[in-house]
Amino acid sequence: MALSLAERGFTAIVLERKSGPLQAASYGNEGKIHMGFVYALDSSGNTGREMLRGALSFAPLIEKWCGPMPWHKWKSGGFRYAIMPDSLADMHTLEAYYEKLRGQLGEIGNDLPVNPAYFGDSPSWMWRRSESTTGSPLIDGEPVNCIDTEEISIDTRPFSEALLHKIREKSTIVLRCDTSVVSAERRDAGFLLEVETLDSHTFLKADVVINCSWADRIRLDRTADMPGINGVLSYRVKHRVIVRPRQGIQNLLPVTMVQGPFGDVVPFKDGSVYLSWYPECRTYFNQHPPSQEFSSQSVLDNVSHRTINAMSNMFPQLKNAAVISCSPCMIVAQGMQDVDDPDSGLHRRTNTGPHGGNGWWSVDTGKLTLAPLHGESTAKLVLGELGLDVK
Ligand SMILES: Cc1cc2nc3c(=O)[nH]c(=O)nc-3n(C[C@H](O)[C@H](O)[C@H](O)COP(=O)(O)OP(=O)(O)OC[C@H]3O[C@@H](n4cnc5c(N)ncnc54)[C@H](O)[C@@H]3O)c2cc1C
Repeated sequence: MALSLAERGFTAIVLERKSGPLQAASYGNEGKIHMGFVYALDSSGNTGREMLRGALSFAPLIEKWCGPMPWHKWKSGGFRYAIMPDSLADMHTLEAYYEKLRGQLGEIGNDLPVNPAYFGDSPSWMWRRSESTTGSPLIDGEPVNCIDTEEISIDTRPFSEALLHKIREKSTIVLRCDTSVVSAERRDAGFLLEVETLDSHTFLKADVVINCSWADRIRLDRTADMPGINGVLSYRVKHRVIVRPRQGIQNLLPVTMVQGPFGDVVPFKDGSVYLSWYPECRTYFNQHPPSQEFSSQSVLDNVSHRTINAMSNMFPQLKNAAVISCSPCMIVAQGMQDVDDPDSGLHRRTNTGPHGGNGWWSVDTGKLTLAPLHGESTAKLVLGELGLDVK
């Protein structure tokens, strides 16, 4: 958001409660830049379409604001989709959906704010049945049916660091870290924000507020008298486990197990591997944000140990892998039934992006994939409302 405004010459003050930006959900996630494959249960196809729009504009928008980025250093290989025996959708249904996605590739490019590209490439084949079983998960010792795709993840650790460096270079982005917004109040002209730092409690006037606080967004909207901007949300805490396999990462591919409460394996270029096994890593699910952080050493040890155990049965290369880190992170989404219910709202990510107006904008990022696209469209809305440059 701030980068998009900076590129147009406008100043933004970023109030960030952590010691730096890009240390919360946008850091602690899997970094998959979704082409839509995982949203096969949204039969309208709208989520898949939205993800493709985000995917094809992600790198071009970041590069428009920040200049060239070394994506090749951060990119994983292409994801393999493993169709689990108890999948909520069978292979035939999934392939029909993937084919529909592929059919949309061309037309989606026409309605983006940038020339579409996927990390320097133009996706072409997008998906095909896997020809080899090397790297596929094993169930009862047998490899499951798989589809190979052109979808990738980026390693959010170096990506966040590089983006922070770029943000610091911009003179029109004023970064105030260790600064929490406690509440907001609408005034005749603009807003008065109640702000807490490590050693002060002050107020800050703002002409326009863009609330991008993800896990705290709904609470802040309410204090500004903008309740329920986009419906009832659920809060899930999901841990990510990063490991280093004893024998290295050869024979490990990026894998997403579908369709249901399964997980992912993502080997990165530095030899580390991201693991997520939903039954162990999803540690909280409620309509209200949690009051605890799920980061005590015993929770982290327990989640990482159980995740490695569960996944080693399917990926023997992970047996006795060394844990590098385990950390909790929040997913905020619409949907009160968990992902094992095919009708759950969690299988959709539509209705995300900016909502509001009249000086208060509340942005549901939806996915990391959609963040640059929503940043760009919010900048246009905000400046448009002020009668300023909307190019
Ligand atoms: C485990 C996990 C895996 C995921 N995997 C993927 C994936 O592979 N691909 C994908 O596209 N998406 C993924 N997501 C979703 C993705 O991480 C989020 O959609 C995205 O990062 C949200 O970005 P954001 O900027 O809105 O939130 P954040 O990155 O959390 O940024 C919000 C910022 O606001 C700050 N803040 C909050 N409250 C206040 C306050 N009161 N005052 C001041 N500052 C405040 C926070 O400290 C934070 O820095 C995943 C999420 C999780 C948890």
